[in-house]
Amino acid sequence: MNAKNVVESLKKRFPNEPEYLQAVQEVLESIEDVYNQHPEFEKANLIERLCIPDRIFTFRVSWVDDKGNVQTNMAYRVQHNMAIGPYKGGIRFHSSVNLSILKFLAFEQTFKNALTTLPMGGAKGGSDFSPRGKSNNEVMRFCQAYLLELWRHIGPDTDVPAGDIGVGAREVGYMFGMYRKLAHEFTGTFTGKGLEFGGSLIRPEATGYGNVYFLCSMLATRGIDIKGKKCLVSGSGNVAQYTCEKLIQLGAIPLTLSDSNGYIYDPDGITQEKLEYVKDLKQVQRGRIREYAEKYGCKYVEGARPWGEKADIALPSATQNEINGADAQKLVDNGIIAVAEGANMPSTPEAIAIFQKAKLLYSPGKASNAGGVATSGLEMSQNSERLSWSSEEVDAKLKGIMANIHANCVKYGTEPDGYINYVKGANIAGFMKVAKAMMAQGII
Ligand code: GLU
Repeated sequence: MNAKNVVESLKKRFPNEPEYLQAVQEVLESIEDVYNQHPEFEKANLIERLCIPDRIFTFRVSWVDDKGNVQTNMAYRVQHNMAIGPYKGGIRFHSSVNLSILKFLAFEQTFKNALTTLPMGGAKGGSDFSPRGKSNNEVMRFCQAYLLELWRHIGPDTDVPAGDIGVGAREVGYMFGMYRKLAHEFTGTFTGKGLEFGGSLIRPEATGYGNVYFLCSMLATRGIDIKGKKCLVSGSGNVAQYTCEKLIQLGAIPLTLSDSNGYIYDPDGITQEKLEYVKDLKQVQRGRIREYAEKYGCKYVEGARPWGEKADIALPSATQNEINGADAQKLVDNGIIAVAEGANMPSTPEAIAIFQKAKLLYSPGKASNAGGVATSGLEMSQNSERLSWSSEEVDAKLKGIMANIHANCVKYGTEPDGYINYVKGANIAGFMKVAKAMMAQGII
């Protein structure tokens, strides 16, 4: 089946999964030329086998809240592809989680992980449980209940989960603790663990830092320095925080942060001191970003995203489809020069088309946010050899990986007029690696 037919057939088979279809369509459109040069792929029905997950676990999680009420949530693990390494990908706890979202994330993860050059397959898991407003004990009981089912499907050489939206060090700690108790083994079955029990230095920073390293490589292709550039950052979780931190270190000026209620705009720039407040607000107090505006007396806009503000660079670091066509047009009209995605699939297809038509430096999340999972891969290596590497060592490896991903995007994505199509480059590089591995391993 050729690429177009596969998309049509998937649309018929999974009509209620728009995010999954969106992610698949983007990849298949951009690999079409390369795919057509390999008739052996078509004979092996490779695309269909690569688009449909290997298996999906769907289960109910029951837990008891602080009032003694029994709660239920839906929970999942999508094991998408294992051709180049054990299944690997985060866990998302958010009220919006459904199968379409986890299937898109697991699909994207497969190509992203291939791009890192490390041996990791693709997976994603999660639940419609929302940690927001829950007590520590409730979060712990939920994590333990989720692991009661999940533990039998994961393992250091099978499937290695980590964090994502709603799952940070606290949740990973509770899940890892329950895993080790149930499996009666101490192995690196989760990444993003605490430093005391096998976590890697730089893992919390890695997604945000990596995105800024990638951005610097993009800017360098046009001889632009990041110093002094005004930046719009969305989100206020782990990715957004460490994106700001690296921007500040390199002399750029982050102006905004957001959450699902609204965004703050700090015309003086978010400094390291203000960022420390944000880290405490989000990780310890578990408050809302509005409180930043109250503390520092700057603008807060309820119910909106920051894309209408004027700046040089945008780093969407919140969630999928957070930049639509109208937002993208506003960014272009305001003279934005680069968009580096820290979140997974934050731009809609309409937005991407607008960025590319304007010939912006635009990187898809699967390339520029791959530093997070890459450092998870480094955590797996450290766990296997029962050693831990220094921050400098991990950071140097992260920089090398991001530079390599950038080089691959340039290699596979440069168009005849010299414009680097990072979407095409990332998709072709990721696809070819997984496709070759699958071909070599036969029809299974
Ligand atoms: N959730 C992150 C991602 O989207 C990290 C996954 C991992 O470290 O396994 O890539």
